[in-house]
Amino acid sequence: MLDVLVIGGGNAALCAALMAREAGATVRLLEAAPKDWRGGNSSHTRNLRCMHDAPQDVLVDAYPEEEFWQDLLKVTGGRTDEALARMVIRHSSTCRPWMRRHGVHFQPSLSGALHTARTNAFFMGGGKALVNAYYRSAERLGVDIRYASPVDRLELDDGRFVAAWAGGERMEARTCVLAAGGFESNLGWLREAWGENARGEWPAENFLIRGTRFNQGTLLRFMLDAGADGIGDPTQAHMVAIDARAPLYDGGICTRIDCVSLGIVVNTEARRFYDEGEDFWPKRYAIWGRLVAQQPQQLAWSVIDAKAVGRFMPPVFPGAQADTLAGLARLIDVDEATFLDTVRAFNSACRPGQFDHTALDDCRTEGLTPAKTHWARPLDTPPFFAYPVRPGITFTYLGLKTDDTAAVRFGGSASPNLFVAGEMMAGNVLGQGYTAGVGMSIGTAFGRIAGTNAALAARGAALRHGEEAAHAGA
Ligand SMILES: Cc1cc2nc3c(=O)[nH]c(=O)nc-3n(C[C@H](O)[C@H](O)[C@H](O)COP(=O)(O)OP(=O)(O)OC[C@H]3O[C@@H](n4cnc5c(N)ncnc54)[C@H](O)[C@@H]3O)c2cc1C
Repeated sequence: MLDVLVIGGGNAALCAALMAREAGATVRLLEAAPKDWRGGNSSHTRNLRCMHDAPQDVLVDAYPEEEFWQDLLKVTGGRTDEALARMVIRHSSTCRPWMRRHGVHFQPSLSGALHTARTNAFFMGGGKALVNAYYRSAERLGVDIRYASPVDRLELDDGRFVAAWAGGERMEARTCVLAAGGFESNLGWLREAWGENARGEWPAENFLIRGTRFNQGTLLRFMLDAGADGIGDPTQAHMVAIDARAPLYDGGICTRIDCVSLGIVVNTEARRFYDEGEDFWPKRYAIWGRLVAQQPQQLAWSVIDAKAVGRFMPPVFPGAQADTLAGLARLIDVDEATFLDTVRAFNSACRPGQFDHTALDDCRTEGLTPAKTHWARPLDTPPFFAYPVRPGITFTYLGLKTDDTAAVRFGGSASPNLFVAGEMMAGNVLGQGYTAGVGMSIGTAFGRIAGTNAALAARGAALRHGEEAAHAGA
């Protein structure tokens, strides 16, 4: 019988499959997507957040455990499991040599608006290259990979994995790792989770999905219905403000609008609604999708002037451009008088300071609600630009509860042979919020743990089976 069945085809699944195979198990990996689209959201990634106590190859300075933990604590508002979070953090300091062995190459952070040279190790060639390297390594090691194989249900016996069903085929294995992503691609489920707002809108109808269309949450729903312990809130997700003109799926990283902290953001009523200068962009960018989701029509505009040009990653689509603020208001179809009032109030509230986009500088507003606490400079230099933004869902946080063994739990008890990794359990560490690169840290740590433990459990099951057979023979 097969030792380990891995369900999913992204980073977490591949880490699990490779570790299980390295531990000597026979492994099959079932990827819902066809080969050309393999790799899930992982193929869209760029980096991994890494703890380190001293400079390490592509990482500068130090990013100690405590600072990583404090960053996580801050963005999650305490909705995290400290023991599991610290396990992920420590794992992030030791996993890269293993990743390299499987063909992943790293490069230093690109210069630009992202302040990540210290905290994040970038994959050369991005997530697509990482996923391709892992698939090559898995093939070489003899993992049986099946594409276009979405699993629609499992057979369970009192918390124990028995078999998986994919397209009418039943597959038994001694152990199983679930790494099939969140439910972010399932528009119906998102609509149901977000419901109707006080304005009579169904906000999720205006969401865009930044990554794969294959993370439909089929197995997550199946497992929750089957009594697995869940964690997280279905409305919590990593949500970024992305260009409203992005495609519904797979727009990827290039649709992000990165100039929020350099200007102001107004809703369709031409009013500001949040502190655009709260913190460095990589730490805070993930709150903006949710903020825009709460605005009328789930649409907003990131507005900058010529002073900001060249200071952020250029968006893929050009912005609306005008030589006057009134002209810009007309182009983006917001009420001109309100827009001018909003900018006037902002401009006159900006206090002189020493502008420094690489530090939490002293350019801030005074007497303005909401305040802009850093990088506040009057919008006074034409041309002016505006970029339309909508909520872009990266991944959802509703998942399966787990522990430091990566086991799925039923009524508080760990399954002996069913494990979970990646987005399907990220909610254990990320109850809300996000800090760049931690999705891959979680998937890599738990994928590797799940694969190792699945291989161990399979070996234990094989030994027990052998003993039983020997006894039966005697
Ligand atoms: C645009 C974008 C950029 C990102 N950038 C970063 C970054 O730079 N750093 C970072 O840390 N995180 C980033 N993330 C988040 C990151 O992608 C995820 O945290 C991580 O990839 C999750 O890995 P995973 O293996 O759990 O999920 P995925 O990589 O999404 O893999 C899930 C897999 O399961 C398969 N699947 C789904 N349902 C089934 C089924 N029923 N049967 C079989 N297979 C199934 C899918 O086809 C897919 O292959 C980004 C995400 C996006 C969308």
